[in-house]
Amino acid sequence: MSAHRTNAEATAADRAHVFHSWSAQGALRPLPVAGGRGSRFWDLEGNTYLDFSSQFVNLNIGHAHPKVVEAIQRQAATLPTIAPHFANDQRSEAARLVASHAPDGLTKVFFTNGGAESNEHAVRMARVVTGRPKVLSAYRSYHGATHTAMHLTGDPRRWATDTGAAGVVRFFGPYLYRSAFHATTEQEECDRALAHLEQVIALEGPGTIAAVLLEPIVGTNGVLVPPAGYLPGVRELCDRHGILLIFDEVMTGFGRTGAWFAADHWGVRPDLLTFAKGVNSGYVPLGGVVLSDAVAAAFDERPYPGGLTYSGHPLACAAAVATITTMREEGMVEHAAHLGEHLIGPRLAKIADAHPSVGEVRGLGVFWAVELVSDRATREMLVPFGTAGAQGAVGEVVAECHRRGLWPFAHFNRIHVLPPCNTTEADVHEGLDILDAALDLADRHVT
Ligand code: PLP
Repeated sequence: MSAHRTNAEATAADRAHVFHSWSAQGALRPLPVAGGRGSRFWDLEGNTYLDFSSQFVNLNIGHAHPKVVEAIQRQAATLPTIAPHFANDQRSEAARLVASHAPDGLTKVFFTNGGAESNEHAVRMARVVTGRPKVLSAYRSYHGATHTAMHLTGDPRRWATDTGAAGVVRFFGPYLYRSAFHATTEQEECDRALAHLEQVIALEGPGTIAAVLLEPIVGTNGVLVPPAGYLPGVRELCDRHGILLIFDEVMTGFGRTGAWFAADHWGVRPDLLTFAKGVNSGYVPLGGVVLSDAVAAAFDERPYPGGLTYSGHPLACAAAVATITTMREEGMVEHAAHLGEHLIGPRLAKIADAHPSVGEVRGLGVFWAVELVSDRATREMLVPFGTAGAQGAVGEVVAECHRRGLWPFAHFNRIHVLPPCNTTEADVHEGLDILDAALDLADRHVT
């Protein structure tokens, strides 16, 4: 096969036979990527982009880190695959490393191939252990695109042809900027969100609820950092009613928020924690569920009814071992925390001051959202809620970013700033300079 010479040729070849998700096939013009290194990737024609989306928010150690590439090559030459019922050194070591960075008391790891599968299995484990059917999940959440995970997802993407999953009940989490509870302070938002959840539990019947599943910091739906007392309050409610608490840390895990896991910011321990993405920076698909001792013990005398051919795949686990070890050696989690506190946060605050289209900026570590509005007073969204991808005024900003060499993540009326954890300060400045300039286009839509 001859190499594609131009972006147009490679895009046409993609469109001929590749079926893509989330976008209408006719509207797609996927950029062909020729390579990447660190915080940048480039196309076939030499255009380079700063990766402020970290691909799908998984590339925590940047593109093509040589230590991880080498670990994958070494494993491929040694034992490229082995079924999950054999023991394997890379799998045992990956499980040890994941468990040792997870909150205390979470000690056993069930490996999957990604985030959605992890949530499917965490929910099934919770149901088996408690013998209860229902799972509570939040509006404005994303948990994946398999059957149950899609219906646990609480964002507005719904289709009439989907049948829905049994036993899913949704509640509102805290989001002060657009409070469902008419709160005006963080404390009010926290208290009212907890009172609301308590009422949902009471009305559903605590004895019917297996688990509460939530993202400790909501990702795709807005980088919503909860008020200080919220997660401890949810933990207490779950304990009071014998409900298991599942944290979906698929997006927040492995350094993204400036801690190994988002749970660490509040010292709250879930009963089950799901992960994927950053565990090996997405170099080989991998996800999993970390189980508490108590949940794991429930399976000491009975089998867990579920499994996957590729659970704990040695290539994926070798990549995870190398990723976690490298992140530790190179201090990437501390670096992400430093970037958030001293660089990205302060600079985004200045950008917000300068642009009337910015309603709010929020986040921590290398995990930030810029929420765009057409009217700061009414908080009217710049593009309507539910507008997928980057369309309208947000699309203009994103296109301008691309023209200037920045690749941000956009969703509904938000632009997210999500560089790899090891991005340099110079790269952060360069990317935010571009975003600053591109936001002038959004300002033109302010009424
Ligand atoms: N959970 C969260 C919080 C996510 O952000 C995602 C993906 O973005 C998923 C689950 C689904 O992960 P995957 O696409 O690997 O199935």
